[in-house]
Amino acid sequence: MAAALQPLITSYSVEQRFNRDLNEIALTFVNGLDGFEQNNVEQAFAELSFTCNADDIALLNSPSLSPAIVRFIQLELANGVQCSNIGPAVNYQFDHTRSLLIDSQQVDIATTVAANERTRSIGYIFHLGVHRLVVLTNSSVYNEILSNLCDDCYQLDIYYQGLSPLQRGAEILEQSSAFIEDSRYINVLDITLTLKAGDVLYWREFSRIGVMLFVAALIVAFLAVIFYWNWQSARVSLGMLIQKGISRKEFIPFYQPIIDCRSGEVVGQEMLVRWRRFDGVLVQPNQFIPYAEDSGLILPITDLILERVYQDLPQLKGWVSVNIVAQHLESGLLSQWFSSHPDPRTKRISFELTERKPITQFELALAEMKAVTPLCHDFKLDDFGTGFGGFSYLQRLGINSIKIDKMFIDTIGTQDLKGAVLDAIIAFGRESQMDMVAEGVETREQADYLAAKGVYQHQGYFYSRPLAFEDLLRFYQKLPFGK
Ligand code: C2E
Ligand code: CA
Ligand code: CA
Repeated sequence: MAAALQPLITSYSVEQRFNRDLNEIALTFVNGLDGFEQNNVEQAFAELSFTCNADDIALLNSPSLSPAIVRFIQLELANGVQCSNIGPAVNYQFDHTRSLLIDSQQVDIATTVAANERTRSIGYIFHLGVHRLVVLTNSSVYNEILSNLCDDCYQLDIYYQGLSPLQRGAEILEQSSAFIEDSRYINVLDITLTLKAGDVLYWREFSRIGVMLFVAALIVAFLAVIFYWNWQSARVSLGMLIQKGISRKEFIPFYQPIIDCRSGEVVGQEMLVRWRRFDGVLVQPNQFIPYAEDSGLILPITDLILERVYQDLPQLKGWVSVNIVAQHLESGLLSQWFSSHPDPRTKRISFELTERKPITQFELALAEMKAVTPLCHDFKLDDFGTGFGGFSYLQRLGINSIKIDKMFIDTIGTQDLKGAVLDAIIAFGRESQMDMVAEGVETREQADYLAAKGVYQHQGYFYSRPLAFEDLLRFYQKLPFGK
């Protein structure tokens, strides 16, 4: 991932850096000119006696007239006398000259004649009345700017219009695969700066980005470890809380009635567990059931809750279903529970086997179902159509009751494509004489639709939410529903 990103980020970064450096170089040129204008140059000019005496030479050598950029500065008087910042006159030769007006001051710009291209430099000629002041710039200053930005990365062509260009910095071969160039025109100087870069800049950025990505990857890995550790410890502490909750018997049954829509009577109810914590907070199943199922803690929770259901049974109408997962069947927990409760009332307990988790030990599960089926009301396949086993579970486990998941009931009255699946499930249920319960019925429209299709056992907010035992008993008193 990081390796794939590195060339992409490098190209982007090279471009950004190149533009930033070119701007900085252009700014250095403009600032250099400003510096020359502001550095008391005017005042220094005024102080010259134009005689080339010791004071004039000292003044030429002063920081205001000889900043770093100046190699030589030479006063050339109208009478032919010449003196420079090092005392005696300096020899130079200009090849081309052109004139500029800078702040109404005429300045000629020239390039010097030199043995080779790279030692040529720029000269400025100031016209002070009848006298001239010639400034030869120190071309190493440009080299210094370039190497400060990036040693060996750049070549700079300085092109004063009409003069032959000066080349500074590294020699960049235009054929280099990562070659880039760009120019800036500086209005006040009438100068064009062309910056070029090649492989050196690219590979420097490449390795810099590599280091950054490596550090970023380390940080991400570090954060991932912290995240995982926090997540793990939250899970571990959830496990501990659940265990405490089990020992304090904090898990209690809520019941959601299942109504036969034709009579409005209760035919049964689904037991949906709630965790009423010692501090009074009522925790919903989605906050602890996934962990309880993953960790196996669902087994002692179900054990606890079955005991409560057993006690409530005499006052419950019809059957009551308890949610189980594959692990319940594979562990033999149910048959153990039934053998310790030899009582005909357990015949009203039903089990909803969810498809959420696949059955891994099929033989064990089947044997358990065979042992328990004669003792209980029935087994229903929960969340039908959403999970692993589906039709094959029905056949192989001999289940003949299905709960149609809310996901499909939600499609009634909508354009959702799953609506076709609902109709197919109902058709299948009818043909194979399945007992069907529709879950998540929220509206009269849904209830009517299901009834018209021959699905009469309904569970959902349209009839009632899951209720605490006492509230369920109150609900019974208002029956039949809707009559
Ligand atoms: P489920 O088995 O699909 O149970 C139906 C869920 O749909 C319940 O959520 C119920 O309150 C909700 N419901 C019913 N009718 C409506 C409706 O009209 N509208 C809406 N929006 N929701 C409706 P609940 O009680 O939060 O339980 C969630 C899940 O937790 C259950 O889904 C079940 O898979 C699991 N669960 C609950 N109790 C137990 C248990 O004791 N053992 C196991 N293993 N799982 C349980
Ligand atoms: Ca269920
Ligand atoms: Ca469901």
